[in-house]
Amino acid sequence: MQTSLAEFIRNTPEGREAEAILRKCVHCGFCTATCPTYQVLGDDLDSPRGRIYLMKRALEGAPVTDKTRLHLDRCLTCRACETTCPSGVSYGRLVDIGRGVVESKTRRGPLERARRRLMAWGLPRTRLFGFFFHLGQWMRPLLPATLKTKLLKTRSSGAWPAPRHARKMLVLAGCVQPALAPSINAAAARVLDRAGISLIEADGAGCCGGIRFHLNYQEEGRDDMRALIDAWWPAVASGQVEAIVMTASGCGVTVKEYGHLLAQDPAYRDKAARISAMTRDLCEIITPEMIGPSRDRGTLAFQSPCTLQHGQQLRGRVEALLAKAGYTLAPVNDAHLCCGSAGTYSLLQPQISAELRGRKLGALQAGRPDIIATANIGCLTHLQGGTATPVRHWIELLDVHPK
Ligand code: SF4
Ligand code: SF4
Repeated sequence: MQTSLAEFIRNTPEGREAEAILRKCVHCGFCTATCPTYQVLGDDLDSPRGRIYLMKRALEGAPVTDKTRLHLDRCLTCRACETTCPSGVSYGRLVDIGRGVVESKTRRGPLERARRRLMAWGLPRTRLFGFFFHLGQWMRPLLPATLKTKLLKTRSSGAWPAPRHARKMLVLAGCVQPALAPSINAAAARVLDRAGISLIEADGAGCCGGIRFHLNYQEEGRDDMRALIDAWWPAVASGQVEAIVMTASGCGVTVKEYGHLLAQDPAYRDKAARISAMTRDLCEIITPEMIGPSRDRGTLAFQSPCTLQHGQQLRGRVEALLAKAGYTLAPVNDAHLCCGSAGTYSLLQPQISAELRGRKLGALQAGRPDIIATANIGCLTHLQGGTATPVRHWIELLDVHPK
């Protein structure tokens, strides 16, 4: 695609990156077939091709309106289009750049600004989120039905093994996961402990920065990334840990991109690159040999989060581990499509999100599974809000020893 970027961005790192990405797009439209928002809304401007066109125009200096921003807001950043694109267009990076430009040239209404600001302020604060989550649990009987569905029922996390092995790995606690499902990291720690690896959480390691970055407070998101690097750095620099493990694929995809997202920061770029290189999703650490003996454990449907299958291009690994443990995997139609969770998307675009969840649950439950498994806390919470079938992180299903 021919491009002629406007003066304000042409000679910047972001401008050069955006131009290289835009030039790869041949406008063939193959990506529209796998775009969830295009499937729901049927408008080309709500497809990857349409959004690429809108971003190209914005970067070339054409007037930007609230409607331009709306079409970009409706994008889930699921990156199914990247998996489909035969030309290798890095849509995810382009939409980060495009959203930043469009945000700076438009102004949201006061209510929307306040809502987004509140989310950006509150969600990454682990303790504050935990306080309100537990308050919500206590007030559950009084809450309206819509809010109740968003409030996971708490489960005991069980014991976290003491760090007794020479092999050690860091694990990200994250911002909302410690309150919503502390059982996930504890289960990962137990499974790895039995395999001879101690999992440790570093003090002060909270949000990966993804929430604020994707709400378009990109610099504040980078501040969260720097804070997380600082929290991890003593363990990394001393060689105490061999890897950084992610139990939420949404955080994993962000941390794996630190090297790129902080490349223009001379104080952090080398550290960020090292952190990204050491980061692994949990399914890259757990091997079939670490799983206990196989036995019939019933039927399961696996929802592969977009951040795992498209963002990290990790497909089939969790399914293989679950099958090895003895689960029968129910087939899931359109498994490449987003469930509608997408970070804060379910709060900001509730209609599209609910439609996608309904479609996803229909596909997941078609094989009448006993349980649904996923790999990301956001998807887990979102899906559980729409079904009585238990939804669990896959590692909890492999943690079958007595707690
Ligand atoms: S992003 Fe890829 S698939 Fe989509 S229109 Fe461009 S080249 Fe075609
Ligand atoms: S990231 Fe997902 S929602 Fe956004 S354009 Fe690509 S396929 Fe569509």
